[in-house]
Amino acid sequence: MTKIEIPQEHPRAESLRIREKLVKHFKSGVVTSAGLIAHGRGEAFDYILGEKTTKPALKAIEAAAATLLTAEHPVISVNGNVAALVSKDIVELSKITKARIEVNLFHRSSEREIAIKKLLEETEATEVFGVGEAASARIPEIGSERRRVDPKGILIADVVLVPLEDGDRTEALVQMGKKVIAIDLNPLSRTAQFATITIVDNIVRVIPTLIKMINKLRTKDKRKLDNIASSFNNEKNLGEAIELFHKRLAKLAKKGVYLPILEVEEL
Ligand code: ATP
Repeated sequence: MTKIEIPQEHPRAESLRIREKLVKHFKSGVVTSAGLIAHGRGEAFDYILGEKTTKPALKAIEAAAATLLTAEHPVISVNGNVAALVSKDIVELSKITKARIEVNLFHRSSEREIAIKKLLEETEATEVFGVGEAASARIPEIGSERRRVDPKGILIADVVLVPLEDGDRTEALVQMGKKVIAIDLNPLSRTAQFATITIVDNIVRVIPTLIKMINKLRTKDKRKLDNIASSFNNEKNLGEAIELFHKRLAKLAKKGVYLPILEVEEL
């Protein structure tokens, strides 16, 4: 495969490196063509955000960390894009939270499931749930293949981390009484709107920050953690995230030119 050299000084260098990763894993069968398009939708929002973690996102990450630390059966749901972009960090996150990793796909095929499992195992996952016959349970109210879940994983989970999710499944999981933590750059998506905690940020920044936050909070007692989680208001936080998009666009509109692009801190 031809490797494309991305110049360090290119203004979109990181974004291009991420694209290259996705293309590589598209070719290896981990990512679907629809996954590439979904990434493009996320990128557009990230561009407006200035490709930085914002204050509302950090607040949501703190609530997510507290929720994961107090969970009894946490599960991390992994699809092709997640595995392609952050498999190593997902494995570390699962180790420090004792969360199970489950493969859950909209476009399910046994080849893809196995390719994703292999990628996770290459980054030292010890057990991967939801592959093949293991996904023998069904979530009610979902039409797609995403309804198939592992009875030892998502089915019995009290907290599910669902990065880059679709709205139907998020809604179904919440209706089953589970706490759902979503990572979605689009604050207007149904996933973002239905989730218990929505982190409006790029997954490549979220997972390492979430790991740091968990390590920072892990010595706190349960009461303090419960307090952090229960004082988080997703509706309010989403409103703050949308307001940031608004403010940033309004400032850029006043400027009339976008280069050099405004720093998030300037807002
Ligand atoms: P919904 O069904 O929730 O209304 P949708 O139809 O947009 O949303 P998908 O097509 O599954 O759902 O899109 C995946 C979502 O993931 C998009 O909203 C996109 O903004 C987001 N996304 C894509 N790449 C990333 C990323 N790297 N980090 C965070 N979010 C991302």
